Amino acid sequence: MTKAVYPGSFDPVTFGHLDVIMRATEIFDEVIIGVLHNSTKTPLFSVEERVNILKKATEGMPQVTVLPFSGLSVDFAKACNAKVIVRGLRAITDFEYELQMAQTNRELESGVDTTFLITSLQYAYLSSTTVKEVAEFGGNISKFVPEFVAKEMQKKLREKREC
Ligand code: ADP
Repeated sequence: MTKAVYPGSFDPVTFGHLDVIMRATEIFDEVIIGVLHNSTKTPLFSVEERVNILKKATEGMPQVTVLPFSGLSVDFAKACNAKVIVRGLRAITDFEYELQMAQTNRELESGVDTTFLITSLQYAYLSSTTVKEVAEFGGNISKFVPEFVAKEMQKKLREKREC
């Protein structure tokens, strides 16, 4: 049985992430999405909220599990008993960072390898950061994230403005 972890911030999950998740389930028997809790960053959604959003977004995918994690992706992979880390590659700008990370991870843990899924063309431009920027300025994000995620974002941004 092949198991892979897909670590990331997912703040918020986009159609680009969901495309990678769907394609990973066609390659691996089990895909564990690791939602990173990074205490040095202030995300829009808390780690619990991101986990719940991802669980809802992947409801129809029985091979997918969603878990929070902090620390190194290789340690998360080891704890899940997975030998593969999945990452998405959008552009050459992703490549340099991802190559360095994958090589560092191999040095840290030779039993865990990284697999890259090249983004589908229609999502190549998409990033969580851009989606947040568009939403903050009141733009339409329905092409970028599932409808319920767009609603959660609008609610969150309203709450932020009221504070
Ligand atoms: P980051 O590592 O910048 O925090 P995210 O947490 O948003 O990235 O994303 C997790 C993974 O999903 C990364 O491998 C990232 O390259 C990939 N990814 C993000 N957006 C897309 C997209 N539109 N298409 C394919 N892969 C993507």
